[in-house]
Amino acid sequence: MFSSSDIKQEAEKRALDTTDQEIIGKAIEDGIETAWERFALQQPQCGFGQLGVCCNNCAMGPCRIDPYGGKPSHGVCGANVDTIVSRNLLDDLSVGAAAHSDHGREVVEVLLETAEGKSEGYRICDEEKLKRVAEEYGIGTAGRSKEDIAKDLALGMLAEFGSVKGFIQMAERAPDKTKAIWTEFGITPRGIDREIVEAMHRVHMGVDADFINILLHAMRTALADGWGGSMIATDCSDILFGTPKPLTSWANLGTLSTDKVNVVLHGHNPLLSEMIVQAVEDPELKKYAIEKGAKGINLVGMCCTGNELLMRSGIPIAGNVLDQELAIATGAVEAMVVDYQCIFPSIPATAGCYHTKVVTTSRKAKIPGTQYMEFSAETALSTAKEIIRLAIDNYPNRNLDRVRIPGKPMKVMAGFSEEEIRKALGGTYKPLIDAIVAGQIKGVVGIVGCNHPRIKQDYGHVTLAKELIKRNILVVETGCAAIACGKAGLLLPEAADNAGSRLKAVCNLLGIPPVLHMGSCVDNSRILVMASMVAKELGVSIGDLPLGGAAPEWYSQKALPIGTYFVASGVYTVLGIPPKIFGSKNVLNLLAEGLKGITNSAFAVEPDPVKAADLLEEEINRKRAALGI
Ligand code: SF4
Ligand code: SF4
Repeated sequence: MFSSSDIKQEAEKRALDTTDQEIIGKAIEDGIETAWERFALQQPQCGFGQLGVCCNNCAMGPCRIDPYGGKPSHGVCGANVDTIVSRNLLDDLSVGAAAHSDHGREVVEVLLETAEGKSEGYRICDEEKLKRVAEEYGIGTAGRSKEDIAKDLALGMLAEFGSVKGFIQMAERAPDKTKAIWTEFGITPRGIDREIVEAMHRVHMGVDADFINILLHAMRTALADGWGGSMIATDCSDILFGTPKPLTSWANLGTLSTDKVNVVLHGHNPLLSEMIVQAVEDPELKKYAIEKGAKGINLVGMCCTGNELLMRSGIPIAGNVLDQELAIATGAVEAMVVDYQCIFPSIPATAGCYHTKVVTTSRKAKIPGTQYMEFSAETALSTAKEIIRLAIDNYPNRNLDRVRIPGKPMKVMAGFSEEEIRKALGGTYKPLIDAIVAGQIKGVVGIVGCNHPRIKQDYGHVTLAKELIKRNILVVETGCAAIACGKAGLLLPEAADNAGSRLKAVCNLLGIPPVLHMGSCVDNSRILVMASMVAKELGVSIGDLPLGGAAPEWYSQKALPIGTYFVASGVYTVLGIPPKIFGSKNVLNLLAEGLKGITNSAFAVEPDPVKAADLLEEEINRKRAALGI
């Protein structure tokens, strides 16, 4: 039993943001089990698993290797620790690449259905981007309708998944020097599905046993995600829903409303949630909400679905991955609508303690205890309206005695797509390059990834971002990292006061925050494109640029391909949570050192965000010196 001071202490230990702390306290008072309780119950976690030295790939196992060099030193099949650790890594990474890329494929399928007039509620919003991308694919645009172009583009992109042409079109966006490295080491991605299927083949018992060969394929699979599946997801979402432009909105659990129907949109894919944004504009639904006693309908986002909606429509964002149970514990959520990825299977149980309805919408992601309302492009807008009606019907069930909406929302500025950043610079990266050369901006670091209950929620992201901007390093962010910094007030132009004087001057001149929100996790592809354009302008490889990447609080398998495509593209990347590779010195050495000789970048692991900033700054200084600046 917690006393009230214990509860306060526990909440402060779990999360950085005060609105999160308040609802953590409420959840403890209400007796709600959250990821933090379940994480504590899992302690101590299995050392074999953490080191990556166990293998469950076939029915002769599970096998595990003695991490101290004793026996057993081999699995039943004879696999050694290097094989097992690298194979496990490839396996996990491929799961992440599949998740991003399958999301991308669904967006392309809806683009195709829209082009064919078979979808409901969708239209092509960014014709200019459609034409630009179509031209990259060699598709003629002159004198053609946008639907015709979109059809050819969608078919061309769908073909990329199992491409027979031997390369992925968007990987051509990389600078020549980066592509030459990929060619030299045989890691140019050939087709998205192809690399993932080949990865699954290689991890089968008795296939690839050479850890170097396995890790090279991990890089190729990750590149197929970053320069393929994820980039396709980003570009097609922009074509369908519009390329984000800078806008302001709000973040944290205080975005929930005391007197409106609250609907939380959680997951990753914007396909259904964009229709829900349209549905709430329906005058009949607005009237219906009022008839049910509410003052209106309040949509808020969560995780990357939330980022997609924030970036394009300014829909407020209630939180990141560890907020999903907390949002329900406010007692004020009528419906949580989920698509897929990062959805805790626990949320129907949390919802069962309040009045919240959890609505699942994807055939790929059914969760027992939820209401299933299948999403399909043909009926998307009708389904979206039905979901909103269900939420409104649930409003009278809200128990006001159990509602607590914490604090005030924090203002945020988001919508920094690559196109808009370039436009703000006058159409070319030359001013950014000049600022980097002059030392006004020392370098650029992408902070990405999740929350992890081992780290105080948001502490890793926010501390690292503050440290970097103080050192005149511009920060670009996606995913839960961006939400963390939004909650902390760093996504505002005023946050430039926390930056070093030189970066502050640049931000003040452009009216931008020192931490730029570039989108959802698949939108890390925007960072790749930006890096690529800068490298091309300078005639160097991405690996030559003073850039860095960091995932201070990652948990998801998707973070593995993200980190790996950053490194394989030449971006030194620091992880705050150790990947499960420490059981093999050879794998560790290759990823932390050996890759430097290939891509001029590597991985590092540093849980302390201040020390992580030291590592990133050191690397940026090294690259600046090599460039002679
Ligand atoms: S693949 Fe080898 S190491 Fe893995 S479970 Fe089977 S026998 Fe054990
Ligand atoms: S950053 Fe991680 S937790 Fe957050 S939405 Fe993306 S994958 Fe999920």
